[in-house]
Amino acid sequence: MNHKSLDYTPEIRNYLLGTSLRKPPFLDELIAVTHEQTDYPIMATDPEQGQFLAFLIKSIGASRIIEIGVFTGVGTLWMAEATGEKGKVVACDLSEAYTSIGRPFWEKAGVAERIDLRLAPALDTLRELEASGETESFDFCYVDADKDSNLLYYEAVLKLLRPGGIIAFDNMLRRGQVADPSYVDKENLVIRELSAKLHHDPRVDVSFLPLCDGVYLARKR
Ligand code: CA
Repeated sequence: MNHKSLDYTPEIRNYLLGTSLRKPPFLDELIAVTHEQTDYPIMATDPEQGQFLAFLIKSIGASRIIEIGVFTGVGTLWMAEATGEKGKVVACDLSEAYTSIGRPFWEKAGVAERIDLRLAPALDTLRELEASGETESFDFCYVDADKDSNLLYYEAVLKLLRPGGIIAFDNMLRRGQVADPSYVDKENLVIRELSAKLHHDPRVDVSFLPLCDGVYLARKR
């Protein structure tokens, strides 16, 4: 097989981060506390991915953002910082325990007022936004939550995005499992189904990046 991808070794990653990473305030502190206080620090958004989301948000001038899956709010910090003083992030999660780890750092970083945390099933929050007349009023959405619900999140978010708005799905490569047909658990099946749907969906333009664990972007037409 002929391809130009390189192995993303720790040395290459260190080089990449060492020559490009610009962190929002209190990112290191929040990541450190996430390692101390949770069993799943791997779920926190990687810095190169956070910076990419922030870059996209600034590139399209996104001021109204939806985040599905907050965990301890690392991605939230990146996005709230990127969106600027007048921006808003509707942050959807179920866990008071995890999201409360992030809040003091959002406050110290001066972005807490931009973050509208909704502790409820994300689909309920998305339906509430639609019911309150916020159809086609959001610019950007980052989805990194229960993978089983990704198809439902996609349809609900597509209604809320303006034309030109972008939805980004995380973990779309599942550490390579999606490319191995022997993995037939529900999460892999749903993620394969979502990728297949996005590939040919005439409502969006798409780009699938092998960034971190795979980021699939769809831009609403
Ligand atoms: Ca993730």
